[in-house]
Amino acid sequence: MKVTLADYSGFCFGVTKAINTAFDEINRNRDKANYSLGPLIHNPQVVKSLEDEGVRIIEDLNDIKEGNVIIRSHGVPEEIYRIAEEKQLNVIDTTCPFVRRIQKIVKEYCDKDFQIAIIGNPHHPEVIGINGWCYNRAVIIQEPGDIERINKDQKLCVVVQTTMSLTKYRELIELLKDKVKEIEIFDTICHATKQRQDAAKKLAGEVDAMIVIGGSNSSNTQKLVAICKEVKPESTFHVEGVEELDIEALRSYERVGVTAGASTPIWVINEIIEALKNIN
Ligand code: SF4
Repeated sequence: MKVTLADYSGFCFGVTKAINTAFDEINRNRDKANYSLGPLIHNPQVVKSLEDEGVRIIEDLNDIKEGNVIIRSHGVPEEIYRIAEEKQLNVIDTTCPFVRRIQKIVKEYCDKDFQIAIIGNPHHPEVIGINGWCYNRAVIIQEPGDIERINKDQKLCVVVQTTMSLTKYRELIELLKDKVKEIEIFDTICHATKQRQDAAKKLAGEVDAMIVIGGSNSSNTQKLVAICKEVKPESTFHVEGVEELDIEALRSYERVGVTAGASTPIWVINEIIEALKNIN
């Protein structure tokens, strides 16, 4: 079996920064309890290593009275910083700078009386966090039908979840342009996401089967699965780790491509590549 790893697989700049910051700060602050508000990134192996370092995941700041709290790479609503300050918690902020930029845009334009539209998944923490920087007033647009909720008489500012698929984004932007008279569009899809999606699509066209590695709650991993399935509907496999590889199903393929979401550690990718090479 010939195994090829797609370009731009594994940790992106934002995730690397978040992990380094979190581990450095934990090591410097061992005298206090360490908490993470939600999982740091969407990867079970990384979350487990943080837990092994004594970091407890909490869902609500009201569950703690003191200590260090890690803000996840996906960012959080503005209100969380206010609550943390009131409680005198030490904030370890690992929000990705690309997400921080979106938060600043929506705050600025909301204050200038623009209606805010976020193209993305309303249940994703990044989108929930961004909405929290414009008083939770944004219209979240995931499907064309959501555009009905836009007020056509108000100026509109549009931002996009960093991991949104380009095709979907372009489709929704065209519909939004027809809906309102004045529109400011910020293409905030992360460059790392674009590169990764293009490389995965290209590789999927050159192999017999694709393996996509990443957490099942990871948005960019799910997008990679969808993109690879467009090219290889019957032979795209999503796994979180080596133990999920379906060896029997893979045995019949000669050329296998591998890609991985932005929060997948390199050692998980290497383990899977080794296992694939050992199949025949
Ligand atoms: S995918 Fe992009 S936006 Fe998301 S954490 Fe990585 S660098 Fe930041």
